[in-house]
Amino acid sequence: MTAPGPQHEALLANPSFAMAAEQFRRMAQLLEIPKNFHDRLLYPKRMVQLALPIERDDGRTEVYFGYRVQHHLTLGPTKGGVRYHPDVTFGEVAALAMWMSWKCALTGLPYGGAKGGIAFDPRTFSLGELERISRRYMQELIPFVGPHTDIPGPDMGTNEQVMAWFMDTYSTHQGHTVGEIVTGKPISLGGCVGRREATGRGVFYLIERALGILKLPAKNCGAIIQGFGNVGAVVAESMFYKSEITVKGISDADCALYNPKGIDIKAATEYVSEHRSLLGFPGAETVDPNEFLTLPCEILVPAAVDRVIDRHNAGKIQCRILAEAANGPTTPDADEILDTRQDEVFVIPDVLCNAGGVIVSYFEWVQDLQNFLWNESEVTDRLVRLLEQSFAAVLKLSKERGFSHRSAALAIGIQRVMEAKKLRGLYP
Ligand code: NAD
Repeated sequence: MTAPGPQHEALLANPSFAMAAEQFRRMAQLLEIPKNFHDRLLYPKRMVQLALPIERDDGRTEVYFGYRVQHHLTLGPTKGGVRYHPDVTFGEVAALAMWMSWKCALTGLPYGGAKGGIAFDPRTFSLGELERISRRYMQELIPFVGPHTDIPGPDMGTNEQVMAWFMDTYSTHQGHTVGEIVTGKPISLGGCVGRREATGRGVFYLIERALGILKLPAKNCGAIIQGFGNVGAVVAESMFYKSEITVKGISDADCALYNPKGIDIKAATEYVSEHRSLLGFPGAETVDPNEFLTLPCEILVPAAVDRVIDRHNAGKIQCRILAEAANGPTTPDADEILDTRQDEVFVIPDVLCNAGGVIVSYFEWVQDLQNFLWNESEVTDRLVRLLEQSFAAVLKLSKERGFSHRSAALAIGIQRVMEAKKLRGLYP
């Protein structure tokens, strides 16, 4: 392994990257990965930092930092979402890119992992300001991305409109429409049916599979869902409309709400589309967000930010199924505790649980490259097939080797990338 220098240390000083690196270090030990591969698998291949000057509506010019990290180039172009959030850092984006690598390899997609982000609060920007910062970000990224190089998509704080601006900015520079440069576009611009719902639907599918394995009837189950955005709200809606699971808790960045009798998710989504927040929603009691994840429930779904389950609360969570819809919600310290509770808590690890998003993004990219359209049932069938295949592989390896579900999922992903590096040599 390389002797750590200040550059390695700068990355490792970031708590999200340190967590992803610690997960990798534990897996490298467990899988006896040869030392020559450690740093090649761990450190991102390319990291781009951008200064984005934006004119605000009042005439001021402000400069925001944007990032794009491409973790490895060994299995094809890189793929990953773009996050708009005030806490975005280079290290967090690098961690998210690494997790994308293991996720794509686990599900068999021909991609390396990537991630991007801009450190700002999109809720404080007008629509015009949001358009200017989005277009500027893509414009600055043009030398580094492309349909065969790196394909951005949505993540926290970004949506179909942002993807449309990215696609339009890139296309304008090419002189023709390049739909395949991003995924998660509006359907009218070549987006894939079901992409917006794909991550949440995948999470819901895996929860139902886990309920079946544990022989837990849905009607006896209550769920707590942290985060009520693209992913969390779709999980809540799926439970509300398509199953007998009672959604007892929902939360967002502003508040956490609990109603042991069940929350009317239809009313909650209508409230959020009007108020852009759950704050003030009348259908439940406000509870302390710090105690939200430890409330009694059968299904716990963190669907917001990373590192929310740590050594302080991992022993206290009361669920039977922990469905990690967010990326990196559980720290390695917490994993040690959850490993001792494997008979109590069935973990669906993030790289598997939220993979529905990148799987349908892959479908969108393939359709755009071929100028071909699939219908919703083709998309859903293929999504379920890939998720089921990955879920079965994780359960099988976990049983054979006595690995936790997370270790099994990471083992499959990491080993596939390592095998590809072995076959290709040092370049990618
Ligand atoms: P989003 O921006 O649509 O929604 C995020 C939600 O989380 C919002 O309700 C926000 O208010 C809430 N939130 C933010 N900070 C919070 C905090 N500290 N406590 C509680 N709630 C908080 O984002 P999203 O697309 O739903 O992404 C959520 C998670 O899922 C992220 O970890 C993301 O990386 C992951 N993910 C998303 C996709 C996708 O397709 N969008 C795919 C895979 C993984």
